[in-house]
Amino acid sequence: MENAYKARVEPVVLKKLRILNKRIKLTEDKYRYYLNQEKGFQGEVQFDVLTEKLQRDCHILNDLQLESNKSRFQLDSSLIFQETYSLFDINNFEGEYVYHSEYFKTLSGKEFQNPLDQLKRSKLLLSQLLQSLGSKITVEAYVIFINPQFTLFQTPPNLPFILPTQLDQFIKKLDQKSSRLNQSHKNLADKLISLHQLDPPKFQLPANKYETMKKGMTCCKCDSFSVTIVGHKLICDRCGCQELVTVAVMRHVEEFKLLFPEQKITTNVIRDWCGIVDSRKRISRILGKNLKITGVHQWTYYE
Ligand SMILES: [Zn+2]
Repeated sequence: MENAYKARVEPVVLKKLRILNKRIKLTEDKYRYYLNQEKGFQGEVQFDVLTEKLQRDCHILNDLQLESNKSRFQLDSSLIFQETYSLFDINNFEGEYVYHSEYFKTLSGKEFQNPLDQLKRSKLLLSQLLQSLGSKITVEAYVIFINPQFTLFQTPPNLPFILPTQLDQFIKKLDQKSSRLNQSHKNLADKLISLHQLDPPKFQLPANKYETMKKGMTCCKCDSFSVTIVGHKLICDRCGCQELVTVAVMRHVEEFKLLFPEQKITTNVIRDWCGIVDSRKRISRILGKNLKITGVHQWTYYE
């Protein structure tokens, strides 16, 4: 079992969109963007499960955002083996598509950019970057179609595409590579991680207008606002999920901090945000236990 040398983290923009989607009505555009982000992330996580099962000696680097020749590029997933650097572009397309060299077309006629273009670009930029770092490792690049519900008609057989039906076999083949890593591979992995830079999101999030947001606590499983506090527990009326009130309140504090990083956390603020916890005392006890108290009396806030 290989643990990721660089683990994947949930993108902040996705976390924010999840909260916003619960609490305001996203425009159609933004809602579609949110679903795409969610789907993309889920696809990557599914692929991580497969790479982490590899027995071979390799370094797993998830989600690298790099720059080469002043061009930014992103590698969803990479594996450093002894002789090769395998990079993977994870694609979560679902449904039936027809292959064309420039685009994929759905049966209803909608066109999507052929992911091969982006793969070629990433491969070239990575090769140049590795060369500039003095590495002689060979780059292999693949588009992984992770969704089992994906079909691509008229795919030429010689493309670096791994279709859902080929995925098992592909992973087995990766696991048969002979590979022995040494310090130079570790240095390369460390160097790339140090070069990793987070792109500011190109997509404009909706303004975080507190007044327009729906207040209240939500279920940790199904996001429903139909939750009730019974004793120490928050119980979801929809799915039955139970969570300790303390944990639930702190989860909502995290949500609030993510959307309003400049705002001070006070008992009143969180009480208003959570809505249903009616006792000020209870909220301030929870905040006091989990956060650092600053100030006194009515000026108290939590960090
Ligand atoms: Zn629920």
